[in-house]
Amino acid sequence: MADQCLFCRIVRREIPATIVAETDDCVAFRDINPQAPVHVLVIPRRHVASLNDVTDPNVAGRLAIVAAEIARKEGIADSGYRTVLNTNADAGQTVFHIHLHLLGGRRLGWPPG
Ligand code: AMP
Ligand code: ZN
Repeated sequence: MADQCLFCRIVRREIPATIVAETDDCVAFRDINPQAPVHVLVIPRRHVASLNDVTDPNVAGRLAIVAAEIARKEGIADSGYRTVLNTNADAGQTVFHIHLHLLGGRRLGWPPG
């Protein structure tokens, strides 16, 4: 499963991505189809399919903390940003390696579609 997973392959550098941050447990890279001036995906290095499969509280916590660090680095921490975890079909999850979307740099509508 993790062998063929797109985001595991990005972690292993088998597929190119614009990586913006790396820690011992997370990798963050720019979304290939950005929905805002800043659109970064933060993922754990270890394969976890979705939030439904998270058992280690550190996983979700680390994703959020790394996203906040990138928001500061990208200059959107004060103007504001949104972090999103899409889970399964109704939320439109298309890649089944958990990823936290970091979106900012423009006014974001609410409620989301
Ligand atoms: P989701 O719909 O929440 O599963 O989000 C998957 C995201 O991954 C989408 O925003 C895609 O644009 C993005 N994506 C898919 N393939 C790549 C890739 N090779 N590099 C960067 N982002 C990607
Ligand atoms: Zn994976």
